[in-house]
Amino acid sequence: MRRKMRAPGNGNGLGLKGKRFGELVVLRPSRSGRAGAWVAQCDCGKQALVYDYLLKSGETTSCGCKTTRPAATGI
Ligand SMILES: [Zn+2]
Repeated sequence: MRRKMRAPGNGNGLGLKGKRFGELVVLRPSRSGRAGAWVAQCDCGKQALVYDYLLKSGETTSCGCKTTRPAATGI
C-alpha cells in the first residue's frame, strides 16, 4: 500500500510538534537519537522525554506528575 498521504500528522513525520496530549505539549524531536522520542513541556513546568507511540496511545499524558506511567527522564 503506497497511497500518497499529504495530511500532516500522519506516519512518522514531524506532525506531533506543537500538539497537546493531556498535560504535555510537544516541543521538538529529542536529539537522543532514539526513534520516536520527543521533548515535551508539561503544564507543571517540567520538560520530559516522551515517546510518540505512548502519546498516541494515551499512556503518557504528563511528565509523570499525573500519570501512572511516567515519562523517561533525561532529555
Ligand atoms: Zn508534569
